[in-house]
Amino acid sequence: MSNINLTNASTVQKNEKSIENKIQLFKQLVDESSSIVFFGGAGVSTESGIPDFRSKDGLYNQQYKYPPEEILSHTFFLNNTDEFYKFYKAKMNSLKYEPNITHIKLAELENRGKLSAVITQNIDGLHQKAGSKVVYELHGSVLRNYCMNCNKFYDAEYVFSSNGIPKCTCGGIIKPDVVLYEEGLNQDTLINSVKAIENADLLIVAGTSLTVQPASGLINYFRGRNLVLINRDATLYDYKASLVINESLGKVFGEILI
Ligand SMILES: [Zn+2]
Repeated sequence: MSNINLTNASTVQKNEKSIENKIQLFKQLVDESSSIVFFGGAGVSTESGIPDFRSKDGLYNQQYKYPPEEILSHTFFLNNTDEFYKFYKAKMNSLKYEPNITHIKLAELENRGKLSAVITQNIDGLHQKAGSKVVYELHGSVLRNYCMNCNKFYDAEYVFSSNGIPKCTCGGIIKPDVVLYEEGLNQDTLINSVKAIENADLLIVAGTSLTVQPASGLINYFRGRNLVLINRDATLYDYKASLVINESLGKVFGEILI
C-alpha cells in the first residue's frame, strides 16, 4: 500500500475525528468508489447472532469432550466422523440465522455495480442469502457438501437434518466443503480474492482482527486509493489505513444510503 491517496489520508486525521465524522467520510469514500471490495471476518456474522469462533465467550472457549480445534481438523473428521458430526450439527448450523444490515447493504452495493466482490472468512452463507453474487469464501461454506466417494452435491438442509453421519445414495460419507484444520485453502478462491483486491479502488476490511492468515497477507495486494478498517478493536494494520472506524458494523453500514 505505497500509494494511499495522501489527500484523503491527511484529511482523515486518524483517531481525531468523532465516529459520526468518520462514518460521513466512509459514506463519501463509498460514493466516490466504483470497484469496492469488502473483506470480512467473524464480526460480520456476530451481529446476526452467530458466535465468533475466537472471541472470549466464543466457540473455542467452550467446554467439549475434545477441543473444537481438534474436532474441526481433517484427521479428526476421518478418524472420528461420528463425533465430528455431533459437534458440527450442534454448533455450525447457520441455516436458522438471517443476514444483517451489513450483508444487505453489501448486496445492494454489488447490485448497483459499485462493489465487485465480497471476500469472507465466514462459512455461513449469509452474504448469498442477502443477495450477494460474487462471494469468495476462503474457508468454504456449510451450504456445499459433497460425497467423498462419488462427489455428488448435497445441500445444508440434508446434512443438518440427517441422522448420524450423512451418507450419499452411493453409500459414501458426505463431507462439508469447509476448510478444516490441516487442510489448505482452495487455490481458485485465493487467486480470485487476490485479483479482486488488486483491482479494487476501495478496500473495506471489517469484523476481523487480521491475526489469521491469509487475511493479513491478502491486504498486501491492495494497490488502490483507500483502505478502510472497521473493527471493534484496533488491528496491527491500522497504520496502513486511510480510515479506521472502531464501531459496530451495523451502525456504520446502516448509514449507507443505497
Ligand atoms: Zn456418493
